[in-house]
Amino acid sequence: GVADGPALPRYVRVNTLKTSVNDIISYFKRQGYTYLGKARSIEEIVQFVQKPGKRFLQDSHIPDLLVFSPNTDFHKDSLYTAGHLILQDKASCLPAFLLSPPVGAHVIDACAAPGNKTSQLAAIIQNKGKVFAFDLDTKRLATMSTLLLRAGITCQELANQDFLTVSPDDPKYQKVSHILVDPSCSGSGMPDRMRMLSEEAGSETSERLQALSAFQRRALSHALSFSSVQTVVYSTCSVHQQENEDVVKNILEQYTDFRLVKALPSWPVRGQNIFPGSDSCLRASFTETLTSGFFVALFQRKDEGSRSSV
Ligand code: SAM
Repeated sequence: GVADGPALPRYVRVNTLKTSVNDIISYFKRQGYTYLGKARSIEEIVQFVQKPGKRFLQDSHIPDLLVFSPNTDFHKDSLYTAGHLILQDKASCLPAFLLSPPVGAHVIDACAAPGNKTSQLAAIIQNKGKVFAFDLDTKRLATMSTLLLRAGITCQELANQDFLTVSPDDPKYQKVSHILVDPSCSGSGMPDRMRMLSEEAGSETSERLQALSAFQRRALSHALSFSSVQTVVYSTCSVHQQENEDVVKNILEQYTDFRLVKALPSWPVRGQNIFPGSDSCLRASFTETLTSGFFVALFQRKDEGSRSSV
């Protein structure tokens, strides 16, 4: 189990709505940490975690992400409780980072609670514009409100609503250009310890995977049906092809006006080769990328160039 084996580094996302990466680097230096600069590769992070100590790096892919030794606990750090630091795994930072809506954009976070990606989206659009965030689970939404308040997010509109019932024709969403779809999944990519704490994770019978993948397809296709949407990111913390490449393949066959964009070309681990272009998707895992298990696919409307110039 995770307790005996090597552990994930402690990834810390800097909340740029409240502070800056440079200020946080100075803060940790004053706290006695040695700053080793920006990692150039995942290999460098692998070497970093093998030598424990009060040291940290800037991440190789996500500029707002800092990397500390495994088991570094920041839950009591005043900058964490003040919302300057967000404790978010590197892989889970990829969807919003890749979606990259411009400042002022209207964005939907389809399955949003507990809201780490919502807060990241809000930071990317600099709290200007809108993040419409939906979730079915009241308890998780309550947790999310607290998290967003602490992070200083003000551009959100939360709704306790089934995303599948959100009308793409509602004038409210007419300017939505970017959608993040991070639906319920088997959680098979999460570290064991976290899976046991998660209410979502359960047994992975083929029936359950089938039901999950059917919902994932519906959520993704609903996102693509918003008329003004240009870019949609799909992610899961599952390692199963059924919830990942199979969903993407099925949707690409149905929505021929969308194509996949190669997500983070420098990322070393790609989607499983089950359809032409599956390497546009990316995968993450503990052994290969020193993150939890994850999958990301980035969709773009084909006529984006001509549309935006009209
Ligand atoms: N994106 C979140 C984050 O980064 O913090 C994690 C989302 S979690 C993987 C999936 C969420 O989808 C759960 O909170 C679940 O309650 C919600 N959900 C499931 N079915 C839904 C639906 N039909 N509409 C909206 N939310 C749904």
